[in-house]
Amino acid sequence: MFARSEDEMSWALNYPDREVGIESWSALVDPKTVLKTTANIPGWADVADRVIKATPKEHLHDFKLMWREPQPCWTSSGGRVVQIGDAAHTFLPSSGNGGTQAIEDAISLAACLHIAGKDNTPWATRVHNKLRFERVACLQKLGVVNHELRNRSSNADVSQTMPVGLLGSWIWSHDPERYAIDNYGKVLAHLKNGTPFQSTNIPPGHVYKPWTIDELLQAKESGKEIELDGDWD
Ligand SMILES: Cc1cc2nc3c(=O)[nH]c(=O)nc-3n(C[C@H](O)[C@H](O)[C@H](O)COP(=O)(O)OP(=O)(O)OC[C@H]3O[C@@H](n4cnc5c(N)ncnc54)[C@H](O)[C@@H]3O)c2cc1C
Repeated sequence: MFARSEDEMSWALNYPDREVGIESWSALVDPKTVLKTTANIPGWADVADRVIKATPKEHLHDFKLMWREPQPCWTSSGGRVVQIGDAAHTFLPSSGNGGTQAIEDAISLAACLHIAGKDNTPWATRVHNKLRFERVACLQKLGVVNHELRNRSSNADVSQTMPVGLLGSWIWSHDPERYAIDNYGKVLAHLKNGTPFQSTNIPPGHVYKPWTIDELLQAKESGKEIELDGDWD
C-alpha cells in the first residue's frame, strides 16, 4: 500500500513471516532487504521499487504482526484495575482503528467513572468493559476481513486511490461518551440482575458470537468467506 499527500509519502508491505521479524515497533530494515522480497512478486511495478529505494533507512521499520485473541475481561476481579487500548485488544494495521479504539476506550471509561461516582469505581470499570468489548471484537474481526480484501486487490489498477475495505458508519459515527451515558444504567442492571442487554455500537443487525483467529484463518484457507451477518459496510 502506497499513500501520499503533497509533501509526504508512506508505504507498507506485508510479507510472510520468515522468522526474522521481532516483536518491536522500532526495529529498522534496509530498503535493499525489501527489494529482495518485491523481486519475487509477479507483476510488481518498477516505480514501487524506486520509491522503496528512495526511503531513508532510519524511517523504514520492520515489525512482526502479533495477534492476541479477543479477551472479554479487561478488569481485575475487584474492578479497580482496568486495561484499555492495545493492552486490552490487539488490532491488525489493516483495521486502521487501534488508536481510535484506544481513544474511544478512554472516553467511555471517563464517562463511566463520572456517572458512577467515587464510591462505585469497580462498577464503572465493569460497565465500561461490557459497553466496549463486542464493538472492539467486531473491529478486530474487520481488521482480518479488510486485510484479506486488500491482499486480494493487491494487483488491482494502480490508479485506485480509495482505501480497500469495509468502513461502515457504525465505526466512524459512534459517540462513546453518549453511548456510555445512554446505556450505563442498562448495563449495570444487566451485570447486577441479569436483565438482557443488547449492544448497539456494533454493525446493525449483527448478533455477536465469540470467535478466534484460528477459525478465521481456517475459513480463509478453505476458501470460505468470513461470516459477517448484519450491515458491516
Ligand atoms: C504501523 C502502524 C500503523 C497504525 N495505523 C493506525 C491507524 O491508521 N489508525 C489507528 O487508529 N491506529 C493505528 N495504529 C494503532 C495505534 O498506533 C495503536 O493502537 C495505539 O497507539 C494504541 O495506543 P495505546 O495508548 O493503547 O498504546 P501505546 O500507543 O502502545 O502506548 C503505550 C505506552 O506505554 C509505554 N510503556 C510501556 N511499558 C511501560 C512501562 N512499564 N512504564 C511506562 N510506560 C510504559 C510505551 O512506551 C507507550 O508509549 C497503527 C499502529 C502501527 C504500528
